[in-house]
Amino acid sequence: MVIWDFDGAIGQLNSSLPYNFNFRNLQREIDNVRAALDVMQKFSICSTFAVTGFTAETGLHPYTCPDLIHEIALLGHEVASHSWRHEWLPLFTRQQAKRSLARSRSTLKNVTGGEIYGFVPPHNRPMTWWRKGAFSLGDRGVYPFFPLADMGAVIGLCLEAGYRWIRISYKPMWGHIADLTGRVLRHGDMLVLENHYVGFDKRVQNHILNSPKKYHIVSAHPLMLDFPDKTEHMSNFCEFLQVLTSAGVHFTTPGSLQSEER
Ligand SMILES: [Zn+2]
Repeated sequence: MVIWDFDGAIGQLNSSLPYNFNFRNLQREIDNVRAALDVMQKFSICSTFAVTGFTAETGLHPYTCPDLIHEIALLGHEVASHSWRHEWLPLFTRQQAKRSLARSRSTLKNVTGGEIYGFVPPHNRPMTWWRKGAFSLGDRGVYPFFPLADMGAVIGLCLEAGYRWIRISYKPMWGHIADLTGRVLRHGDMLVLENHYVGFDKRVQNHILNSPKKYHIVSAHPLMLDFPDKTEHMSNFCEFLQVLTSAGVHFTTPGSLQSEER
């Protein structure tokens, strides 16, 4: 499963380096999404785009692009929510997060004409999940003083809002990350996809080819497709698709997995 974090203009503005804002990157990300769609069409594979809800709102290009999101869904890719405006969830109230989950889901639903099942937390936060023995100071808030600084609380809220899968990133305090490309877990009614790897380089290609595991999760940012020093670079992506499809690896989406498992 390839899951793209399509941040859009609002996501770029609210990302970890907002003061490095560069207008050119807004168009660049959109162009790269198109390039990724073209390549995936050539290989007949589907992926998942986690998009900020604001990007699907009616508005002005390149700040929003509902048509492109509609097209992504038409081409058979899954569209998931990446929140409404790329919020730092651990510092938000439950009410704020609820509204972000609901508004992004309904906007994306309107634009794609389909159901939205997935949620990809912006900034991969919280990384704390007490139940799994994972704690991250980087969340900037500590549960329960900050009610959403725990993945268990976020999952509960997502379920209430109608989501059925979530992609998460966390590191247990003891032990190490068991597998480079994550596992698919069930947490109540929620399908949980672990994600520990960004990009498509040889390291992850070899890992997938040599692993007995059934599922692998890889994430990437369309914006990084034309950054030569990134593991997400287009040359790596093309090689990744070439190598894996010729080895008979099948690409799927969490949404289809989620409905298969029901
Ligand atoms: Zn993001």
